[in-house]
Amino acid sequence: MSVALSAVKRLVVKIGSFLLVEESGAVKRAWLEALAEDIARLRARGQEVIVVSSGAIAMGRRLIGLGPGPLRLEDSQAAAAAGQIRLAGAYQEVLGSHGLTAAQVLVTIADTEERRRHLNARSTMNRLLALGAVPVINENDTVATTEIRFGDNDRLAARVAQMVSADCLVLLSDIDGLYSADPRSDANARFIAEVPEITPAIEAMAGAPKPGYGSGGMVTKLAAAKIALRAGCHLAIADGKVTRPLQAIEDGARCTWFVASSTPLNARKQWIAGSVKPSGTLTVDAGAAAALKAGKSLLPAGVTAVAGTFERGDAVAVCDAAGHELARGLSAYSSDDARRIAGHKSGEIEAILGYRGRDEMIHRDDLVVA
Ligand code: GLU
Repeated sequence: MSVALSAVKRLVVKIGSFLLVEESGAVKRAWLEALAEDIARLRARGQEVIVVSSGAIAMGRRLIGLGPGPLRLEDSQAAAAAGQIRLAGAYQEVLGSHGLTAAQVLVTIADTEERRRHLNARSTMNRLLALGAVPVINENDTVATTEIRFGDNDRLAARVAQMVSADCLVLLSDIDGLYSADPRSDANARFIAEVPEITPAIEAMAGAPKPGYGSGGMVTKLAAAKIALRAGCHLAIADGKVTRPLQAIEDGARCTWFVASSTPLNARKQWIAGSVKPSGTLTVDAGAAAALKAGKSLLPAGVTAVAGTFERGDAVAVCDAAGHELARGLSAYSSDDARRIAGHKSGEIEAILGYRGRDEMIHRDDLVVA
């Protein structure tokens, strides 16, 4: 086993519709209860778990009176609306029986891509995890149109993993991993146990997207693996059909590991340092400069001046009084709000802005010191 699941700090596990939902639309209760046991076991060891679950459309279509076969977009969206409430209820029950609180989060592509929404979703999820809840995530299928839909939860799960800096993503699938060709049609298909990098040769193994029940196939799994590896997150494609699939992986069940060479924190910092152009500058006093060097967050109290126009989530440069760049980071406040709270204690933010924002101007995870 390339990655030990028992050593993972923050795990995202993605569950496909076919694992969870019978042809009839009923939930596969025994399987789900066993999964909840798996999750409870990880949680008892102090590991954080986030579930990305499909199944809303598969559960909802009959409920809402739709027949079998492919659905039009508006029918899938209607089915998702009816199914999601059942899906969430099922998680609430099975996790609740282990004393865990399921917390539903429905996201769209924009929530993971647009930095302001990304930061909001990220802090909410961090907070849910800190409070001990198990976030249960799905795409917000009912509001997303074709162009702004993920459409498949493999990539959604990878974006979520990236957003919350998870160190491991497990895609539970109907197949136990990646093969050199489709093992259902090619007897010579070779199993690939470990992938350190997604080369064109690896991509060629995925073949064409598979039509049918799940929307993914191997193509979207590789797309997810690319996102995860760039984010410093290991990814496994594993057989989800077994009872207690996470336990099975720990017990040595065969699966394909895509092994990240970086850590989520380093990957995030690299992303901030490299790809993001600062749209403003925060000048800080000597105390704040020393705190930054010591690895601390930047608090509003240490900011003496704000230059430029930026939104919450935009990248800014942090400079000392002489104008030397000390760090770069994502501002938790817009330039207007930053100007108003600069020089003030975090406890005064609410009185000044009229809302309770973050304590930090730039959180240390969003800060790269030069
Ligand atoms: N979000 C869809 C659902 O819950 C599923 C997408 C997928 O199958 O990957 O039904």
